Amino acid sequence: MIHPDVLLAALAGLLIGSFLNVCIFRWPRDLSVVAPRSMCPECETQIGWYDNLPLISYILLRGRCRGCRTPISYRYPLVELLTAICFGSAVWQFGLTLLALKLCVYSSLLIGCIFADFADRILPDEFTLGGALIGLVFAAFVFLPQGLPSLFIPVGWPEAVRSVIESLFGGGFPSVSIFLVGEIYYRLRKKDGLGLGDVKMIGMMGAFYGLSPTLLAILAGSLGGSIISLAFLYFSKKDSSTYELPFGSFLGIASLLVIHLEGLAPAA
Ligand SMILES: [Zn+2]
Repeated sequence: MIHPDVLLAALAGLLIGSFLNVCIFRWPRDLSVVAPRSMCPECETQIGWYDNLPLISYILLRGRCRGCRTPISYRYPLVELLTAICFGSAVWQFGLTLLALKLCVYSSLLIGCIFADFADRILPDEFTLGGALIGLVFAAFVFLPQGLPSLFIPVGWPEAVRSVIESLFGGGFPSVSIFLVGEIYYRLRKKDGLGLGDVKMIGMMGAFYGLSPTLLAILAGSLGGSIISLAFLYFSKKDSSTYELPFGSFLGIASLLVIHLEGLAPAA
């Protein structure tokens, strides 16, 4: 029997996912997410609320616009479903706690990054820089485990302050390091290796969960992303010199897995 709280969280996830879809489409185009109302990008008919219900409308409309029958991107139901699963997972693991809320917010930011990068090869600052700020604020309330910086922080300092320093270090260290590696690569090869968006996204990840899960996600994301991209290039016969890898998408998927599965692991 699934706890009602978990179902309620999944339902909230569907609604947030629906809003994320708006952000994923509009932020890379510098459009407002508040106005105007959603419309079909093809025939520009405004979408009625009854055609805008998360997941349900997509199924009822069989994935096509009511007006012009243009197929609606599979991204819409996928984002809604994935957000619902993440919210359900967070509350299932941690109950109705601040920790679960943090996991929900983080999952939303990652899902935004994953799909914006995949669709437009853009990681909007709203998700990355805005997200990093939210991660810092969370660190003052949901304490991060003590890592490397704790060796240099005086013992008497309050735990909230220590946690925020962990968050600053967790975001700052990997993003600055990767930025420097990218700069060196650029100097040597005269070719962009990593986008600034990836650097900011890594900063956001570290600000939320600290250094170790972020390094693990970077490793898993790079490895998984390289293997999948190579396979894709091989089978699709696309030109590898012009293909731009959606690194942020792989980074986001890896981090979602790391953070959600970490909570499921038996406590040591
Ligand atoms: Zn249409």
